[in-house]
Amino acid sequence: MSVEGCLACDASAGRIAVPGGMIAETVHWHADHCIGPFGVGAVVVKTKEHVEDLWRLPDGAAEELGPFLRRISGAIVDGLGAERAYLTMWVDKPPLHVHMVVYPRWPSDEKRGWDLDRERWAGGPPPAAEAAEAAARLRDFLRHP
Ligand SMILES: [Zn+2]
Repeated sequence: MSVEGCLACDASAGRIAVPGGMIAETVHWHADHCIGPFGVGAVVVKTKEHVEDLWRLPDGAAEELGPFLRRISGAIVDGLGAERAYLTMWVDKPPLHVHMVVYPRWPSDEKRGWDLDRERWAGGPPPAAEAAEAAARLRDFLRHP
């Protein structure tokens, strides 16, 4: 069920613009470019339904999660040229969707781990046009890996 006023639902339903549109989906999961400060090529993987906690995932969503994260992280590395794909998750603001951010660490990034996260957060969200271009490349790679 899509709830108006929920950022995740509004983004999935197209009520708010997400750079480049949907990247990929499964029965239970939706992936689009992150609008937060994780850099160009960062992907939000979120449940289509409201699910409050990882341990409350329906069986079908739990079964799809590993393969979907594998595909998305592979697209970030092999499709965009990242050196590593990082993963983070928090669910802390209602209405709640379990969501994860899979994001690139580029060969040119000098920082690693939390130091890179702090640098990205200080820089703010990536330029929308660059994010949209990355979303298109990810979508194309996932269609033709
Ligand atoms: Zn929602």
